[in-house]
Amino acid sequence: IVSIKNVRKSYGSIEVLKGISLDIMKGDVVCIIGPSGSGKSTLIRCINALADIQDGSITVEGQEVHDPKLDKLALRRKVGMVFQQYNLFPHKTALQNVMMAPVKVLGQPKQEVEARARSLLKKVRLEGKENAYPGELSGGQQQRVAIARSLAMQPDVMLFDEVTAALDPETVKEVLVTIKELAADGMTCILVTHEMGFAREVADHIYFTDLGVIVEHGPPSTFFDNAQDPRTKAFLGQIL
Ligand code: ATP
Ligand code: MG
Repeated sequence: IVSIKNVRKSYGSIEVLKGISLDIMKGDVVCIIGPSGSGKSTLIRCINALADIQDGSITVEGQEVHDPKLDKLALRRKVGMVFQQYNLFPHKTALQNVMMAPVKVLGQPKQEVEARARSLLKKVRLEGKENAYPGELSGGQQQRVAIARSLAMQPDVMLFDEVTAALDPETVKEVLVTIKELAADGMTCILVTHEMGFAREVADHIYFTDLGVIVEHGPPSTFFDNAQDPRTKAFLGQIL
């Protein structure tokens, strides 16, 4: 569903992605891990064209993402993204936050969107919080509203960039459970995460990046228990 081939990206004269290739199949859960500054966020921003690339190709469902003629709005509808900062609209309720894009951007009928938004809030276990404002919700609850908001666009692929990094340890788990359920429902998920327990349990495939290249990848069992590259070993040694 997502195919990344030999992607290179520079900021000015600094190359931060140095020939990255990976293929993600429909329904896959892929975790990207690696040290700070290794290019993880940059890579996933390239997938929904929030960042441009200098070389290589990225396709989503066969469409070249960096084709200047591509409709970026249509792409971002297909590829949802959730960030570390959830950026909910503070003066809108949870329900209104989830409804906004389908109504305003897609022009879908309000009633239909509302029904879907309510069921999404239920799915992320926020039934009863429909009318709460972001300020009245915990970090983990706000992040789950952000996930529901993304799902409201009915994407085919979800990108998550360290969505639990800013949360209190107690609320991390509820967000991870939500993502795990989403994955179990068959959603294709690409996650940048430092949650190794989650990666081991939920990922189909793990990619380890360092200095703009994929150093090593494999299924969790191989990756965590039988890493070959010294950089992977050093990284895992620090955090496990
Ligand atoms: P972290 O784990 O800290 O989030 P990361 O792996 O996500 O790190 P990126 O944010 O992708 O790393 O950054 C990769 C490199 O690109 C870093 O050296 C960073 O300083 C640089 N970089 C990122 N965004 C920009 C930008 N908008 N302009 C210039 N340089 C940037
Ligand atoms: Mg990052």
